[in-house]
Amino acid sequence: MTTFSHLECGLCRRTYQPSEAQGVCRCGGLLLARYDLELARRSWSRDWVRNAPATMWRYTPVLPVRTPGSVVSLGEGMTPLVRAERLGRRLGLNQLWIKDEGRNPTGSVKARGIACAISMILELEKRLAVIASLGNAAVGVAAYAASAGLEAHVFLPRSAARSVIAECRLYGAQVTLVEGGLAECVRALDRLPAAEGRHDLSAPREPYRLEGAKTLGYELAEQFNWDLPEAVLYPVGQGLGLVAIRKAFEEMEILGWIPGHTPRLIAVQTEGCRPLVEAFRQQRERAEPVRSVATVAAETAVEEPAGDFLALRALLASRGAAVAVTDSELLEAGLQMARLEGVLPSPEGAACAAAIPKLVEAGALDPHERVVLINTAGGLRSLEVWARRLGPAPAAETDKLGGLITPR
Ligand SMILES: *Cc1c(COP(=O)(O)O)cnc(C)c1O
Repeated sequence: MTTFSHLECGLCRRTYQPSEAQGVCRCGGLLLARYDLELARRSWSRDWVRNAPATMWRYTPVLPVRTPGSVVSLGEGMTPLVRAERLGRRLGLNQLWIKDEGRNPTGSVKARGIACAISMILELEKRLAVIASLGNAAVGVAAYAASAGLEAHVFLPRSAARSVIAECRLYGAQVTLVEGGLAECVRALDRLPAAEGRHDLSAPREPYRLEGAKTLGYELAEQFNWDLPEAVLYPVGQGLGLVAIRKAFEEMEILGWIPGHTPRLIAVQTEGCRPLVEAFRQQRERAEPVRSVATVAAETAVEEPAGDFLALRALLASRGAAVAVTDSELLEAGLQMARLEGVLPSPEGAACAAAIPKLVEAGALDPHERVVLINTAGGLRSLEVWARRLGPAPAAETDKLGGLITPR
């Protein structure tokens, strides 16, 4: 049973009842779900979790869904933690792991948050899920809405990967393609006429995606047997994934589940869109919006990160860092991950790998500490990006075995 009690603004701390709140606080701040963690501490335990279902719903007491019948699940969470010895050595680390979020339903970390938010839509008795998204979140909404028997309408940039657009349609969602980036998609969605029963899942317009996303932090602790690693690298767009895992660490400290330290959080962006890295470098509390974005790490191409304030605070509170890499560094690192570990990453996950040598060089990572890189999505959805990196298709030339010779 959940110990969910109320929502609280992350900026001004005003509180709301779940039923009265939709979207952000009156002051514009993000709403965060709060739980009766004292009750959870008394009635819940790490031993109990050990025998719970192998999905993110094993952490139900700290998720907001009140009626078990509202839970919509495709088996999200409990993704593998892959020991990456060869890649680690190549990048300068002795102990590197890849947390492979590409193994979630719909192929990305977004499945966690969307599963939780769609469950809450059922609980709040809404019928239509809408979202403006760069891609992965829209695919998640389309699939989970289908699973819940709800309608979905997604707004995507015209430049979204072909697979993203096809998948949304295959799951039965209405798709609107918008000229421009995320900001234009949000504006297009906001032009929809008001409608009864509609629920907007665009980040950060509802508080429950963050709760699902937070289970990644719980899982890391559990998979490390409650002795968390020294550093976690996360590719940031809105910054909400990072905020979510920090929230998990803070909750687990109150639960008494992680007696040791919490990891340093390291935010990774690309040179083509780096508002959070810039804000961190300048020690600002908020990020300056960027006007134009250009990067193959499409999911982090967020002009105006909604989670900026909380993400920057999470970086500071964890004594973390923020770093940007170039697209060509990212592509090279992604290829290494595929060839040395058998994991084809998302461009965003590859960005984290590319950041490691820079961090080691700068002394922000020690070669001997335990480091986890979050591969936020599988690489297949970005096949166009990886295919470009491989170069043109081979000339039709047959080798002695009678097959085509392809360059590596
Ligand atoms: C959404 C997403 C991110 C960024 O997450 P934020 O919460 O927006 O910071 C990174 N990588 C992938 C693959 C994503 O889908």
